[in-house]
Amino acid sequence: MLEVYQIEAFDDNYIYVLKSEGVVAVVDPGDAAPVLSFLHEMEWQLDMVLVTHHHHDHVAGILKLQNEFDCHVVGFESDQQRIPGFTVWVQEGDEIEVGSSVAEIIEIPGHTTGHIAYYFKEDGLLFCGDTLFSLGCGRLFEGTPEQMWTSLQKIKTLPDDTQVFCAHEYTQSNGRFALKVDPDNQALHQRCEEVDDLRDDDLPTVPSFLSVEKQSNPFLRADDASLMQRMEATTPLECFTKLRLAKDKF
Ligand code: ZN
Ligand code: FE
Repeated sequence: MLEVYQIEAFDDNYIYVLKSEGVVAVVDPGDAAPVLSFLHEMEWQLDMVLVTHHHHDHVAGILKLQNEFDCHVVGFESDQQRIPGFTVWVQEGDEIEVGSSVAEIIEIPGHTTGHIAYYFKEDGLLFCGDTLFSLGCGRLFEGTPEQMWTSLQKIKTLPDDTQVFCAHEYTQSNGRFALKVDPDNQALHQRCEEVDDLRDDDLPTVPSFLSVEKQSNPFLRADDASLMQRMEATTPLECFTKLRLAKDKF
């Protein structure tokens, strides 16, 4: 069993601490301070850092953590120059063990060219960084719409009961855009109401279930006939591309 602890960082980032059989890992430590205070409070050592992509808000805490703990840093092979403290490079299909839990590496480029997810199949948990957000997806900083759409389709093949741990609390503003482009979607309305209630109480909207995202996230629904019609698109890729452009201007 993998235990997951959610730590808030900066304005809207989430850092995750994972623990299994006494092994402790942290996903995307953009800031060391909140991670260190959590680890000190729990009296835990840090064994490994799992990085989804090289952006500052995901890696800037690594060297400080390595100062205190002799920990491995796992990241995508082609990002060796861009991830500080890098020690273990992985690619599609590789497996990383955290105690008795195993993460499969899934390559999901688009937000950046080197972006990976850690998929704990047995536990049904997906750590997907800035690729899939609840009710949204990451901006295309380096990749193409085609790459991102392919990555999202890969995620869509995972089981419905997969819990999606994304790296930002963007759900409420994503929801406002989603309602604009997909106003007749009942599952979306229901999710937005739930999200508003959670945010009113200052609670996280992450993780969410992949089943909910499949029904309500417009970026996963770019192949839905009614959404394609609304976006005046003839192919799912065209629909996705138009959605992403519209969201950039929203
Ligand atoms: Zn990013
Ligand atoms: Fe980010």
